[in-house]
Amino acid sequence: MRLPKVDYHMHTPLCGHAVGEPHEYVEQAMRAGLSEIGFSDHAPLVSHEDARYTMNKSQLPLYHQMIEGIQKKYSNFTIKLGLEADYIPGFEKEIKKILDAYPYDFVIGSVHFIDRWAFDDPDEKIKWRDKDINTVYRDYYELLRKSAASRLFDIIGHADLVKKFGHRSSEDLTHEIENTGKVFKDSDVTLEINTSGLRKPVAEIYPALSVLKIYCKRGVPITFSSDSHDPRDVGRDYDKARTLALEAGYKEYRVFKKRKVERVEGL
Ligand SMILES: [Zn+2]
Ligand SMILES: [Zn+2]
Repeated sequence: MRLPKVDYHMHTPLCGHAVGEPHEYVEQAMRAGLSEIGFSDHAPLVSHEDARYTMNKSQLPLYHQMIEGIQKKYSNFTIKLGLEADYIPGFEKEIKKILDAYPYDFVIGSVHFIDRWAFDDPDEKIKWRDKDINTVYRDYYELLRKSAASRLFDIIGHADLVKKFGHRSSEDLTHEIENTGKVFKDSDVTLEINTSGLRKPVAEIYPALSVLKIYCKRGVPITFSSDSHDPRDVGRDYDKARTLALEAGYKEYRVFKKRKVERVEGL
């Protein structure tokens, strides 16, 4: 079976919750038959510092050095350098400053926080008990739209992460997702088909097929990622990711370089 050839979402121990050295991620990518990967470690949080979630600002040069080091070591394998940056409303200028300070190949924008609540952190899961799930879903989709409309990011990360622990909205979200798809399209962002959801309680790729179909109809482009925090996960479940993309109606995916679409590849 043909598989997607790129994996644009992987971390380093600098973020405080990933294991394995960058060269191990590269070795696994080669074993998995990928033709290129992109590191996208968690960018420094602009609202506050938290070593459990991201590197801090003083570690950025080390991150660049690490990845440039393996780019030299594996000169016959394509390794792109990106970041996964949290979208925190009100901090757009601070985020932009970090993203503009280095020639990244791509930047993933992710919503992990609703207000200051890290809703996808297992240590914060207990707080779901006090929340109205429908409100959480609506807040999440609003933040997603804002993150795309900010035009700070090339790729929108795990675009239905709110389902991670299996909480489900009792409302029909079609309208919400339609609106979000329109904003994605108007903002020219790319979605990642992120296989890490399969390894989480929800046991589903981000985004789900029903959601992806709506985005496909809107003409929102895609790329592929494993969101690996462990080298063993690089390129994992790419057969399922490809099948999902095809079922949703996709025929191609994007490859990035220096924050532009380098080319599209057929599925
Ligand atoms: Zn992470
Ligand atoms: Zn993430």
